[in-house]
Amino acid sequence: PLVLGIETSCDETGVGIVRGTTLLADAVASSVDEHARFGGVVPEVASRAHLEAMIPTVRRALDQAGVTLRDVDAIAVTAGPGLAGTLLVGVAAAKAYAMALDKPLYGVNHLAAHVAVDQLEHGPLPEPCVALLVSGGHSSLLLVPDVTGDVRELGSTIDDAAGEAFDKIARVLGLPFPGGPHIDRVAREGDPSAIDFPRGLTGPRDPAYDFSFSGLKTAVARWVEARERAGEPVPVADVAASFQEAVVDVLTAKAVRACQEHGVDHLLIGGGVAANSRLRALAEERCARAGIRLRVPRPKLCTDNGAMVAALGAELVARNVTPSELDLPADSSLPVTEVVVAAS
Ligand code: ATP
Ligand code: MG
Ligand code: FE
Repeated sequence: PLVLGIETSCDETGVGIVRGTTLLADAVASSVDEHARFGGVVPEVASRAHLEAMIPTVRRALDQAGVTLRDVDAIAVTAGPGLAGTLLVGVAAAKAYAMALDKPLYGVNHLAAHVAVDQLEHGPLPEPCVALLVSGGHSSLLLVPDVTGDVRELGSTIDDAAGEAFDKIARVLGLPFPGGPHIDRVAREGDPSAIDFPRGLTGPRDPAYDFSFSGLKTAVARWVEARERAGEPVPVADVAASFQEAVVDVLTAKAVRACQEHGVDHLLIGGGVAANSRLRALAEERCARAGIRLRVPRPKLCTDNGAMVAALGAELVARNVTPSELDLPADSSLPVTEVVVAAS
């Protein structure tokens, strides 16, 4: 089936087109530059940007794929979780297309879409798999027996998301927003063992699969402040490398443990932070040692995009899952266990 997917859960207007597991188009318009001066995504600004970008981005995706709207067999859209106002723009657009074309509509879970996207790159999804989703808005460990209907949350962050921690520490170090890629770059020149920053929730009595990054964030900020107060130069590369190591050490250790304790031999990593070069390297190393197969989509498919929504939509069509009703709501706090939103 030819599926058009729409994503507007945060600051990316994404429209993707797939045929089965084949990617035909992945058009993304981002309003990230408009948020840079605020140091974070401003929901009202993002909603307006989606409204302006939606139709041009759909056109661009159709052009890329070399198809017309008439060729589309089903529409999929992110129904949640995400920013309430931005989700509404995508869901309203998707309903309009589904109604006008008289095609089935699937309101889907953004997190399940981050998992499903991998099959556009590496072929059919290995199920069950464990998925580590790390981005600016979420950090969770999922157990995925069936991406179209059985997704379970093993754990998630109890405070900041991993990408949020990268962005905040980048700001402390005077690097631009979004900070993740800058920390990644600067850290290459630094020593990851220079400073022993805390690893959150890794004590014997701590929850095995939850994450916490706010203590780490505070520790890094205090360390930098102390240096500045003493009038000493801040070793930016060493701080970046040591901070990054603390984050990816915990992420990979918990992900591997989740695989082992659930008898699952495939780990999938997704979300914007999956682009991090040290996370990829350490995950490869630890998975190889544990006999776990690692799948990480290319960075463009890891960050928010419409192709991931289309990929999940195509899988739902392929497995004959009932579509959503046309009155389906956007749900900013949609639980990860709800892969398809039925109706309001
Ligand atoms: P959502 O949480 O809904 O997916 P988002 O826009 O925050 O929304 P993404 O677009 O998937 O999510 O990811 C953006 C995040 O990824 C930012 O926090 C950014 O700093 C981080 N990021 C991107 N590249 C890297 C990298 N190389 N290293 C570390 N973090 C990175
Ligand atoms: Mg984003
Ligand atoms: Fe996302």
